[in-house]
Amino acid sequence: MTSKNLIKALPKIELHLHILGSIRPETLLSIIETDNIESAYNNKDDIVKRFEYSDFMNFIQCYMEIVDYIIDERHFERITYEMLENCARCNTKYVEASFSPMDHISKGLQFNKMLNAIRRGIKNAKRDFGLEADIRIDIVRTSTIEEAMSILDYIAEDPNNIVSIDLGGNEKMYPPKRFADVYRRAAKMGLHRVAHAGEAAGPESIWEAIQYLNVERIGHGVSAQQDPNLIEYLKQKRIGIEMCPVSNLRTGAVHSIKEHPIRDFFDKGLLVSVNSDDPSLFHTDMNYEFIQLHQELGFSVDELFKISLDSIQSSFLDPKIKDQLRRSFTREYTSLVE
Ligand SMILES: [Zn+2]
Repeated sequence: MTSKNLIKALPKIELHLHILGSIRPETLLSIIETDNIESAYNNKDDIVKRFEYSDFMNFIQCYMEIVDYIIDERHFERITYEMLENCARCNTKYVEASFSPMDHISKGLQFNKMLNAIRRGIKNAKRDFGLEADIRIDIVRTSTIEEAMSILDYIAEDPNNIVSIDLGGNEKMYPPKRFADVYRRAAKMGLHRVAHAGEAAGPESIWEAIQYLNVERIGHGVSAQQDPNLIEYLKQKRIGIEMCPVSNLRTGAVHSIKEHPIRDFFDKGLLVSVNSDDPSLFHTDMNYEFIQLHQELGFSVDELFKISLDSIQSSFLDPKIKDQLRRSFTREYTSLVE
């Protein structure tokens, strides 16, 4: 087997994957047509072209445009199902998918209807492709504290399938500190805690997420590279770093994959996972991410498999399930390389 095919066949886990950012261009087009929405897109290629960015803010702008096209909760079933179908094609066995309800609630959509549609997508994907998924709820940095708390109220009413909260969006203008009370309450509710940090801002944003939000994992964490003390802290505390190399390239957080800090973090023994973030919007998937790491940063197949095992460790699964997964991953890997 060529190393490329071997990499594609590796069992994988994905921990940082946005549901809306996984929407297929043809699905977006079909939603626009079905719901009779006015748009600048005449065909799939127009949409694919729109998914090119000059910087992070331009990406956020594009993301918010897509939000505007979703005017019916039921579409999340198809988007979630197709996202997981794509994951299964990369031999991904478990996904923690991020959903940002406030973006859509502010457009008049209902939390329960959206979540139930996502759960149907997960259930049907499990039936058809055999992979498991849980949900993490992104409370979005632009939310007011009242809005963020109202999201926790919704979760408390129906926590099924929801494993953690997350904080995404513009981290320069909306630093983590503001959400300390929200994260404290989430912890009391038994939810795990993640935040995007160190993607579009410096290491101070990561320190704040640790100090004020008590996060167990960091989304991106690229700028930790600028602070050796932070790297040591992340290593000692075993805080998982959800790295999204191709996303960072597309938004300009790094200039090339060769410059991406994942090689350095991995070599230093940090608990690193690899993720596609918004695969549709960044023209990527887990296979492409792994192959980039192999080709541009010299990750061996063995090292990529270690990343899969570290991702299991980093996940919010029960320890028992983690053990089972580790065993089945190792069996699968052994049979591939034998
Ligand atoms: Zn993200």
